[in-house]
Amino acid sequence: MQKMELESFSPVSTVAVCGGTHGNELTGVYVVREMQKQKVEKVGLTSVDVVLTNPRAVALGRRYAEMDLNRCFSDAHLSSPLTESSVYEVRRAQELNAQLGPKGSEAAVDLLIDLHNTTANMGVCLLFYSIDWLTLHIYRYIKNKMSPLPVRAIDVGVPISDAYSLEAVGKHGFAIEVGPQPNGVLRADIFNMMKKTVDLTMDWIQEFNSGCTFEAGEVEVFTVVKSVDYPRDQTGEITATIHPELQDNDFKLLRRGDPVFLSFTGETVEHEGDELHPFFVNECAYYEKKIAFHLGQKTTFQLPPVCMKKN
Ligand SMILES: [Zn+2]
Repeated sequence: MQKMELESFSPVSTVAVCGGTHGNELTGVYVVREMQKQKVEKVGLTSVDVVLTNPRAVALGRRYAEMDLNRCFSDAHLSSPLTESSVYEVRRAQELNAQLGPKGSEAAVDLLIDLHNTTANMGVCLLFYSIDWLTLHIYRYIKNKMSPLPVRAIDVGVPISDAYSLEAVGKHGFAIEVGPQPNGVLRADIFNMMKKTVDLTMDWIQEFNSGCTFEAGEVEVFTVVKSVDYPRDQTGEITATIHPELQDNDFKLLRRGDPVFLSFTGETVEHEGDELHPFFVNECAYYEKKIAFHLGQKTTFQLPPVCMKKN
């Protein structure tokens, strides 16, 4: 293997830990509240901003009050003029962008992590907009330390200019998805996995800021290729559920002919087309988005060694 050049990055001096972007994904809500109670404002020399991002949705116990906050960080929403009739989440997105960004600027927080739950059986997943050596090194560190618990990386395949999620506001960022957990519910195993992932992220930052070099290596990333909707009748009603053989089998390679749906009249619908990996299988919040699951391709990336830029 060809030796890769050392890549250097500015120190990670500011971090934002965000939860409650979806008000009914309770792990992040309580991780954030606990950090606020313990007045976590600094870890080593890194300042930490702990933010409950959608308090109205949290109070309502719903994903959002008027509109999905995690779709409000596009340039269009962030620059739209606010009026009396502006949607709460658009208003909130602009406040958060002022506090933690502005997106794409030098003033933006160095690293933004946003805590989410999924109802799918996905273990711990780090979601990225783009391939970024610094955050992929954090991913590799977490994965190694958490083994044998499943930790995976997903590249959502949206260019940063079109990025619509909160983590895009930071200079670096990712969402942490942990599941399975029903909306409005807390599970200790999921809470512990989320807490551990946040703590390991902070540990990595401390090692990085103290001048450690993180060696070259390989990581696997699942890149979203497409989304699959449920089978529907002419009126748009769904006519099938996820097949029992696919349910809870996120990331297991789907081959042509594998069962994916079971119709209400008992017929099996099989997977057609390319062999790909399913994830977010039967995610509760995706019913309204007409997504039964995503399909992705597994790619191996060669990570260059990274260290802190010294000046
Ligand atoms: Zn979420």
